[in-house]
Amino acid sequence: MQHNLFSSDKYIFFCLSSGSCGNCYFVGNGDYGILIDVGIGVRTIRKRLKEHGYDFEHIRAVLITHDHMDHIKSVGTFAHRHHIPIYATREVHSAIENHRLIKYPIGASKRIIEKETPFQIEDFRFTAFDVPHDSTSGDNSGYFIEFGTHKMTLATDIGRLTDEMIPYLTKAHHLIIESNYDEEMLSSGNYPYHLKQRITSGYGHISNKQTAEFLADNYRSHLKNIWLCHLSNDNNTPELAYDTIERHLRAKGLTMGKELQLHVLERNKLSPAIKFT
Ligand SMILES: [Zn+2]
Ligand SMILES: [Zn+2]
Repeated sequence: MQHNLFSSDKYIFFCLSSGSCGNCYFVGNGDYGILIDVGIGVRTIRKRLKEHGYDFEHIRAVLITHDHMDHIKSVGTFAHRHHIPIYATREVHSAIENHRLIKYPIGASKRIIEKETPFQIEDFRFTAFDVPHDSTSGDNSGYFIEFGTHKMTLATDIGRLTDEMIPYLTKAHHLIIESNYDEEMLSSGNYPYHLKQRITSGYGHISNKQTAEFLADNYRSHLKNIWLCHLSNDNNTPELAYDTIERHLRAKGLTMGKELQLHVLERNKLSPAIKFT
């Protein structure tokens, strides 16, 4: 296959969409890629992959974090039409099978993973770890990803930061972490009480402040990139998320663009591709 766009940069990461409008992340190299979550339409995925030089034939696997629609929308199509293996825990697979809005069965594309047990897909090694969130199955994963000398962690839809998650977050060189809402905006906004409760329950989402305090308290010098993800449309702005995290890190003597890069993943938008040697 003639693809090698990034011959000197071995690895590549980008986000195709982030937020309750749909989530999809790409990690790969010059020859192929792996998607984590496929919560947007297939046509949008195809179009956005193309903008960074990839097509479905380059996708070797899809990994799923949990069974909410904004993470699984296109999973049936990837399995059934494109015969791409779908990696998820047993609980998430059964929730997908029973989901009335998932049109096509996963069938032979089903790959069952277990948390804390690393598995290899081509040059990438993944470890799923438990995160607290209110998915239908009650089962939710973050992913720790190792490739070359790099360690990357994806933690989205995390109701709170648990002691079990922290080792996976702190060993990352590249960290994709939720920064869902501004606490002020949520509490003074017009969401109904039960929704505010759901978000802040410890099984919903984490705030800019929670993420900022965690990052400031647990900063390690090997951390090079942070991407803030799953921003709320109603209770956050990219500027607020960035400023809150930047302020907390600055208070620890860190300068963005110097020791580390801080990126905000805007809702429903293809991010620039970050390349790693
Ligand atoms: Zn979500
Ligand atoms: Zn969710």
